[in-house]
Amino acid sequence: MKHKIYVVGIGPGAEEMMTKEAESVLKMSDTIIGYEVYLKLLPEAFRGKELLSTPMKQEKERCLLCFEKAKSGKTVSLVCSGDAGIYGLAGLMYEMGEAYPDCEIMVVSGVTAAAGGAALLGAPINHDFCAISLSDLLTPWETIERRLLSAAEGDFAIVLYNPSSRKRKDYLKRACEILLTKIEKERPAGYVENIGRTDTKIEICTLGELKERTVNMFTTVFIGNSRTEVINGKLITRRGYEL
Ligand code: SAH
Repeated sequence: MKHKIYVVGIGPGAEEMMTKEAESVLKMSDTIIGYEVYLKLLPEAFRGKELLSTPMKQEKERCLLCFEKAKSGKTVSLVCSGDAGIYGLAGLMYEMGEAYPDCEIMVVSGVTAAAGGAALLGAPINHDFCAISLSDLLTPWETIERRLLSAAEGDFAIVLYNPSSRKRKDYLKRACEILLTKIEKERPAGYVENIGRTDTKIEICTLGELKERTVNMFTTVFIGNSRTEVINGKLITRRGYEL
């Protein structure tokens, strides 16, 4: 029998936002591996398990640990925030898994920040949308710029992940400047900090205002398409229904 490794999206943080499937997989696991911050987000019930972490930016080591633990006979879950296959470790696990044919990987989906944040803002991605990460750790900035421009040109609603970090304080500003070459500054936008955690902050503004805002790394940013409006204090992208 193959050794099972679950790659589990635990949602944005709140226990109620974790799927039942994620919860039951974690219950069955002997070992839960993840970035320390995510392990701390786990409900009490799982804290008695063997919990292992590697520091930020040591994703390959974290995945390696999963394969080693699984080979030693443990049922392993690798936890990611939100969804494991959206800027998560699901892909890397499959890539590295080629070298471990005796391990079987299963991905368990979770509520991604785009979905959790959109619900708090209203319905900003209720039509075609693009998710773009502003992190240039693994993607060249030129590619990110090209994707921003293409998304604006295609009139997609846009969700920005990783809008900021300690080393990338002005990236949101740079992204907004690029978008503003194609989109008017009055375009409705918004952002949510700490979705599904304590101190949730929800803001609605224009793209022009967004350019001047400072956000942190626990923030997801939304920019509307040409049919996005603020209705009753919520950010809504119309689908085109006749009222
Ligand atoms: N796999 C995750 C994304 C990881 S990338 C998911 O599906 O949600 C990390 C980025 O996700 C952060 O920089 C932020 O933009 C967003 N994010 C993750 N959790 C968040 C939260 N609780 N609140 C706001 N944004 C969050």
